[in-house]
Amino acid sequence: MLPKINTLSGYLYEYQKSVANPEAFWENIAENFYWHKKWDKVLEWDRDGHNVQWFVNGKLNITENIFEKNLFILGDKPAIIWEPNNPDEPTVTLTYKQLHEKVCQFANVLLQNGVKKGDRVCIYLPMVPEAAIAMLACARVGAIHSVVFAGFSASSLADRINDAEVKIVLTSDGNFRGAKSIPVKAVVDEALESCPLVEKVIVLKRTSIEVTMKPGRDIWWHDAIRGVSTENKAQEMDSEDMLFILYTSGSTGKPKGVVHTTGGYMVYTAYSFANVFQYNINDIYFCTADVGWITGHSYIVYGPLLNGATAVMFEGVPNHPGVDRFWQIIEKHKVTHFYTAPTAIRSLMGYGTEPIERHNLSSLKVLGSVGEPINEEAWHWYHTHVGKGNCPIVDTWWQTETGGIMISPIAGVTPTKPAYATLPLPGVQVIIVDNEGNELKGNNVEGNLCIKFPWPSMIRTTYGDHERCVNTYFSSFKGLYFTGDGVKRDADGYYRILGRVDDVINVSGHRLGTAEVENAINSHPLVIESAVVGFPHEVKGQGIYAYVVLDAASKNHDPEKIKASLLAAATKVIGPIAKPDKIQLVTGLPKTRSGKIMRRILRKIAEGDATSLGDTSTLLDPGVVKEIIEGALVPV
Ligand code: ATP
Ligand code: MG
Repeated sequence: MLPKINTLSGYLYEYQKSVANPEAFWENIAENFYWHKKWDKVLEWDRDGHNVQWFVNGKLNITENIFEKNLFILGDKPAIIWEPNNPDEPTVTLTYKQLHEKVCQFANVLLQNGVKKGDRVCIYLPMVPEAAIAMLACARVGAIHSVVFAGFSASSLADRINDAEVKIVLTSDGNFRGAKSIPVKAVVDEALESCPLVEKVIVLKRTSIEVTMKPGRDIWWHDAIRGVSTENKAQEMDSEDMLFILYTSGSTGKPKGVVHTTGGYMVYTAYSFANVFQYNINDIYFCTADVGWITGHSYIVYGPLLNGATAVMFEGVPNHPGVDRFWQIIEKHKVTHFYTAPTAIRSLMGYGTEPIERHNLSSLKVLGSVGEPINEEAWHWYHTHVGKGNCPIVDTWWQTETGGIMISPIAGVTPTKPAYATLPLPGVQVIIVDNEGNELKGNNVEGNLCIKFPWPSMIRTTYGDHERCVNTYFSSFKGLYFTGDGVKRDADGYYRILGRVDDVINVSGHRLGTAEVENAINSHPLVIESAVVGFPHEVKGQGIYAYVVLDAASKNHDPEKIKASLLAAATKVIGPIAKPDKIQLVTGLPKTRSGKIMRRILRKIAEGDATSLGDTSTLLDPGVVKEIIEGALVPV
């Protein structure tokens, strides 16, 4: 196990050490891993061109740090507990030994199918153990995986396959999701019509729906592994060899192919997992993310497995067969650590506490939140009803580009505050700057959230286009990594994420973060969730347009009265400046498939420009947008 911080003074001590001498700090953590050859230098960094290397010339394979390093002690410990979509289907448990064999076997399959070190492999699989096996098998042979969420359309998939110049696609016949059985292979077939570089497709049988198999190109997974050896010697990788490409969610625009490399990503995800969650060896950790997102990469697969953790992987959705599914899984597997997104919490809040009370959740020790700012009401509900007031909530702020959690409480160590991600992890040098790039020192300041020194799992490049990486992240403020998010450092030095800076609303010269205004609106008992954006306003410069989703109970109330009380809520929590100018009641909000609100679409609608909505390929439900546009035409 990695060194763990267990007191607040211990945190402060480690943090100071990490800032005073980052190289020595990370070198010390990296010593805990198995390297074929250690690094010549800890960090090489060219600030302006963003060429960063960690553990320079170190040689390793990340999967040996999951398996070979730990098998002797952890061999029979469950690595993955897989919970199927249908609760009547049996759970599958893979011990470290079994998972190792499957990974080695599939690594051999990849080699037999012509995959070489450095080749790109697209993984378009549902949440089944084979998704993790496929990722680790790629890492074993030195192939670069690009996992694409198995709900994306053929054209989104084709774009990602072509952008990464993928040679082989790993997929399934279909996908069970809630009450539905969704075709998957058919989507791949359609995508591949415009992907000339793809030579092979390996297809896992999951739903047994009929599929067409193209001779010479398509092979069944079960045929491919038949008789193949379960022994495989890991490919030696350089610290800076690419481990994977992952496309961002697309909340702010066209997704970017973020590249992570081997050594630094390993060290950072393992360290942050152990510390943020305070995982102990017999704990059962359940993260509800999909492996198609960075959270699934870093905190279902790599971080937990590098720590010898037992991770629950769930195939289905939170409301199938009932809205108590998460709680049922927690009870069934005696989950100790539960990590989910605010969007899930807010939607489950809508069903009240009865579904929770049906289950014994006493195994829980730590709760986590990721993906968006968590509003105070959702935080309290999560804390009180799910955690029974006993479980610290780690509100983890990070990004695809950061590879791992950056600002977050350390469970049970950092005193929490609702809606605050609290303090940076050791090694994370946060700096807040104004729009001119001047540092805002001290407390009680807000501005652009930047990081001023590299950390091991930081983005190395955007695949095939380094200039895009430099322009997107390193050009806004000289010498700094710019996150795109706005942040406030309060009187205690605690950080609160205010939302994307592009979404900041400027009302009569007062800057308001979307998260703050939404937090105020969401505090109203009838509101499930809301999204606010700015729109041009003759007098104030910008006005506030609020899209609000109400609870079913609102049917018994007069909508005009509800709107009036929403205005009062915003005024009470923030002040009259935060009072929305327009409120539109809607049945849902446009979200990415990872559950993030796409405010840029709502902004266009609020501006009256619904014809150019930008990249909508990662949008979950286009029907919602149509409904909102129609509603927006009605004067509100
Ligand atoms: P794109 O960059 O293509 O727009 P995206 O930013 O939505 O996509 P991700 O990398 O998955 O894709 O999301 C990172 C963003 O999610 C952060 O920049 C931040 O805005 C938000 N976020 C994540 N966790 C938190 C959190 N705990 N609190 C507040 N915001 C969070
Ligand atoms: Mg982003």
